[in-house]
Amino acid sequence: PRNTDTPRALRLPVRPELAGIEPYGAPQLDVPVLLNVNENPYGPSQAVVASIASAVADAAAGLNRYPDRDFLGLRGDLADYLARESGVRVEAEQVWAANGSNEVMLHLLQAFAGPGRTVVSFAPTYSMYPEYARDTHSEYVVGRREADFTLDPGHATAVVAEHQPSVTILTSPNNPTGTALSVDTIVAVCEAALEVDVDGAPGIVVVDEAYGEFRREGVPSALELLERFPNLVVSRTMSKAFALAGARLGYLAARREIVDALRVVRLPYHLSAVTQATARAALSHADELLGQVAALRAERDRTVEWLRAQTHDGRPLDVADSDSNFVLFGRFADRHAIWQGLLDRGVLIRETGPEGWLRVSIGTREEMVAFKDALVEVAGL
Ligand code: PMP
Repeated sequence: PRNTDTPRALRLPVRPELAGIEPYGAPQLDVPVLLNVNENPYGPSQAVVASIASAVADAAAGLNRYPDRDFLGLRGDLADYLARESGVRVEAEQVWAANGSNEVMLHLLQAFAGPGRTVVSFAPTYSMYPEYARDTHSEYVVGRREADFTLDPGHATAVVAEHQPSVTILTSPNNPTGTALSVDTIVAVCEAALEVDVDGAPGIVVVDEAYGEFRREGVPSALELLERFPNLVVSRTMSKAFALAGARLGYLAARREIVDALRVVRLPYHLSAVTQATARAALSHADELLGQVAALRAERDRTVEWLRAQTHDGRPLDVADSDSNFVLFGRFADRHAIWQGLLDRGVLIRETGPEGWLRVSIGTREEMVAFKDALVEVAGL
């Protein structure tokens, strides 16, 4: 008999563009100081844990049934939260949610991009955007940010005019640089996208505000432009400021017509009853879950200041301005050696961004002390 256990290369009909590609993701390592994926270092209090557990217990009693497919309760709670956070009021029907803002973005590209269509973003930026484009068979065009990681509105609008994207993704604050966009830049891109002709329709502009709540005083949210631009989408997440990365809940606000197009491409019942219950319970404790945002912002500013005061190889470190809960700094001739040296000392940061730069998420005060101590040793600051 043939021995089917004999090791033999298994040939699979994988799509050619996926051949040899590694799945995206930062290393998940068990080390004491985790500063690599921009999580909120503060877990929920016992009271919030109890409230979520009780909401999930109620949901569990009905798990023989499919969940509420249109989840207008959760969408209404998210709309209320946005109104409190930004002062901009939208209806429940203008909010959409999915399993992390990653899935929200995928829904957007499934509905508005696809074969023969183009998606634009501006690098260095979040490395999942090209993957959403690949997975929806869309063309991906990447413009550039300036040396200080700002986006030049003249360049951005020229890229939009030239490539006629059905979706333009702006990220503010940007990952991995931390840079917030000016309102003028977002307005210019929305106006340029209105001039785009995609099968007779204008292009959509998505402002990814995953880190929106960390923006500095006086930096507005793109939510304030929703009334003015029918082609604008603002995406948010509960993963970062809201300290709920494990629950997987991302969402967006846009015109109702845009949201209705997303309802066509979502899988039926994509948001589980457990997820909906968890998110709604967490939203009822928004003040507490967001309670550390001010402290994290202050720690971020202190980290930027400290890094800027350090010299490496005879010159001051370069440190990007940050409106996020992370800081991009460099430049190192061998950034991998710095990353590894920190890891050897129990501090995990992220090797990402342009060559020579590293990104550190803002942790607790103690975690940042551990980071600084390790960096001084490893980089000889
Ligand atoms: N957008 C940006 C800019 C991000 O950095 C991230 C997370 N790293 C996401 C979206 C996705 O986050 P989530 O799926 O957890 O909402």
